[in-house]
Order: sequence, then structure tokens, then C-alpha cells
Amino acid sequence: MVLDDLGSSLRSTMDSLRGKSHIDEDDVQEIVKQIQRSLLSADVDVDLVMELSDGIETRALEEEPPGGTTARDHVLKIVYEEMVGLIGESTEIPLEQQTIVLAGLQGSGKTTTAAKMAWWFSKKGLRPAVIQTDTFRPGAYDQAKQMSENAEVEFYGDPDGEDPVQIARDGLEATEDADVRIVDTAGRHALEDDLIDEIEQIDDAVDPDRSLLVLDAAIGQGAKDQARQFEESIGIDGVVITKLDGTAKGGGALTAVNETGSSIAFLGSGETVQDIERFEPNGFISRLLG
Ligand code: GDP
Repeated sequence: MVLDDLGSSLRSTMDSLRGKSHIDEDDVQEIVKQIQRSLLSADVDVDLVMELSDGIETRALEEEPPGGTTARDHVLKIVYEEMVGLIGESTEIPLEQQTIVLAGLQGSGKTTTAAKMAWWFSKKGLRPAVIQTDTFRPGAYDQAKQMSENAEVEFYGDPDGEDPVQIARDGLEATEDADVRIVDTAGRHALEDDLIDEIEQIDDAVDPDRSLLVLDAAIGQGAKDQARQFEESIGIDGVVITKLDGTAKGGGALTAVNETGSSIAFLGSGETVQDIERFEPNGFISRLLG
């Protein structure tokens, strides 16, 4: 982790440790305090912040720097390792035939993410298809069709269909030649029972290789209930954080990662199909601490 990646106050504290052969309790507390401040303002759940702080404090005070490593570099390494422990590595997305279901509340960015992911897979040389099963939100069909066209990928949907489960089944049949089928589902404003029933039925019909939960970066503590519900109903293998081009830092999504025992798969940072990247811990850590 390079120091430029740290927030400025944390960086200057780290810099003030330069030349010290030993880092004492006051130093560690100062570092931990600054990390806590950054993470809490990035919407990271307070329990997760405390867990992380304890880990950093214990290790920084107990572990001796290995020979040739300065005390400052040693603490920096501990901070980085503990942050990766909290955030996790990227969700594994093999470049092979698969079916992926996207779940999440209305407005979280599912439809946009479906087209973005299809674009991403197509750039990796695979043949993707987007299957739109959202019969609830007006305009979802047109939006998905248009974005799939922008991404230059295959699209299946039924503008007159009323049964999302049947659309999912028909969609799988119609896109048999595709390598990667991305199934977009309906969201609701809140987690109503009929949404959960519907996505469970789609999950049964589609039998996906992985299900990803799409979350708006601005989600705060609401992430917990959502994540738990989706985890219990269909099982969540990874999280996609959208709208990272806004001011929100996306720390709330870590609650979902923790709650589902999963990891982060993709990040979305704009409204066009190219605005997607694979999650990578380094950049995200900088963002949370910055
Ligand atoms: P859905 O209801 O979950 O399918 O959400 P949509 O895909 O329709 O997205 C809701 C709104 O958020 C739309 O206006 C999208 O253009 C916008 N959106 C989605 N992802 C992003 C993103 O990464 N950045 C920005 N700025 N807007 C996004």
C-alpha cells in the first residue's frame, strides 16, 4: 500500500512515525482513531469498525517488526492486512459458461449493472446475454433492451409478459447459445414478501451459478436487513456496488458483504455500459480512508 493512498490526516500521522524504532500505545491509538473517523464517515458499520480497530491495535502493539522493516512500515502493513481482512478479496468470477442472477431493491442499479456486466464479459471474449424479467417497473424492458444494444450484446425480454418466472425460463431457452446469461430481476422499494417469493421462484427456475446483490453506494445501515433477506431467500455470492461516481464511498456495502459472508465482485461508476470495473481491494481501501 503506498502512502499516497491514505487519507491526508492518516498520512501525516504515519509520516510523523518516520525514524521511530518503536511505536507506542499513543501512536497506535492516534492511527486507529483516524482510521475510525474515516471509516465511520464512509458509512462503514460501527461494529465492523470496532472489530478492525481491535485487530490493528493488538497486532501493532504485540508484533515485532521483522528485521529490516521500520516500525512505521510494519504498522502500515498491519493496517493494510486488517483492512483487506475486513473488505475481502474480489469475488471469483470465472471466465466460463455461467448464469448469474442480479438481485436488489428498485433503483439500486440492477438493470444498468446487467448490461455493464454483459459488456464486461464480451470484452473478455465471451458471448453474454441479458435476460430481463422485471415486469414490475414501467420502462424496465425498454431500458434493458436499449442498454443491451449499447453494449452490443444479446437481449431477451417480453414487453407483454406478466409472469417473470416464465420469462426467465423462456429467456434461458432463447439464449442457449450464449456463454454467460445475466438475469435481471424486479426490485421493489422495500423488501415486500411478494418480491422475495418472486425472486425465489426465479432462482429455482434459473438455478444460477452465482447470485449477486446490487447495492447503491449510498446505502447506509439499511444494507443489513436487505442483505440478510436476500441471503436467506436465494443465497448471495457477491455484491456489486453502484454509483461510486457520486459522493458516497460505499462503506455501507461492507455490512452486506459481512452479512452474506460473501465479497465484492464489481464496482459501477457511471450510467454507461463501460462504467464498470472488477473490485480490487487496494483502490477501495484508499477510497474508504481518503
Ligand atoms: P434498477 O431499478 O435496480 O434496475 O436500477 P437501474 O439500473 O434502473 O438504475 C437506477 C438509476 O441509477 C438509473 O437512472 C441509472 O442510470 C442510475 N445508475 C445505475 N448505476 C449507476 C452508476 O454506477 N452511476 C450513476 N451515476 N448512476 C447509475
